[in-house]
Amino acid sequence: MKRFELRKERQEQNRQNLMTTVKIIILVLLLNIVFPFYGGATTSALEGLDFIHYQEDIGKLVFVDGQEVPSANVDHLSTVEPTEAPVQVTPLPTEMPVPTAEPTVKPVTTPTPPPVTTTTPSIAPSPSPFPSPDATQEPANGKDDDVPAGLLLQELLAKAYKHEDDKVAYLTFDDGPYPTNTYPILDILKGENIKATFFPIGTSIEYYPEVIKRVYDEGHGIGNHTYSHVFKDIYASPESFVKELFMNEELLQSTLNTDRLFRLARFPGGSFGDKMASFREAVNEAGFGYIDWNSLNGDAESVKSKSAEELLERLKETVYGQSGLVVLMHDAPNKETTVEALPSIIEFLRSEGYRFDLLPGS
Ligand SMILES: [Zn+2]
Repeated sequence: MKRFELRKERQEQNRQNLMTTVKIIILVLLLNIVFPFYGGATTSALEGLDFIHYQEDIGKLVFVDGQEVPSANVDHLSTVEPTEAPVQVTPLPTEMPVPTAEPTVKPVTTPTPPPVTTTTPSIAPSPSPFPSPDATQEPANGKDDDVPAGLLLQELLAKAYKHEDDKVAYLTFDDGPYPTNTYPILDILKGENIKATFFPIGTSIEYYPEVIKRVYDEGHGIGNHTYSHVFKDIYASPESFVKELFMNEELLQSTLNTDRLFRLARFPGGSFGDKMASFREAVNEAGFGYIDWNSLNGDAESVKSKSAEELLERLKETVYGQSGLVVLMHDAPNKETTVEALPSIIEFLRSEGYRFDLLPGS
């Protein structure tokens, strides 16, 4: 009997607690209506809206060509990818952006996304992205001639930035393949009889295998730009970075039906800075070489697309008469003006005495 009453009492207490909570909620809601800009709840609600607008803006960049392409790589979109650009002859500050600084805006959507655009870097001078020279002299396991393949390739790549007898431009296109842009780029290159080097992303290769096949069939170089290009994943550790490179290599091999290796890597965001030292080492140890760039058209320096004229002007600013010019461009979504600017960029480089070539290891 007593037990029954006790339970009843408890139930009544619970009911009252519940009523009190409901009253408090109603009161807070009323306060928000009467004083709409007062109070933390309202403020955070507004911030929430801002966030949604921001997402929508980003979305516009991702949903190109009417394709619904929730992106897995939206981190790319956020503008301020760390600056990249190596070996500039410019006397610039030494501040070195690190890829991990890239702002991440990651949508949680599931559908397989095609690649997303990029946003890269502004040009920034940097000290040599390469590991210390000593590294190249040290045989891996005590045998004199046994210099690891990664370091041998790295030595070759270092020479791309500087030529003794002539001027060479290496056109590079990152973050594809993406038919809307990659195809017309291939058409232009064919018309000009130029070979370029492409750095595709695995998730995009899966989405557009036929596009990367055409790149390969037409004799262009193919590098390795990681499988996902998602900074928080690829830069979680040197091991995860190397794993992403191997994943992308396997995907390229199966897609292109070849057993050749794809050991020319490019770090998303660049390999610059002390923080990347362990990554650079791991990449070389795993048998890869890597290349950054010392020139760019600026097609990833802002979220808003630059016009073709602006891209050409930006390129001219970054040439500095360098004898070896590694030009960073993108064939990702939202890079239509890169296609538009390409003929004038080629014409300009020719007029400056450059010939075009493939990067070693591609
Ligand atoms: Zn990239």
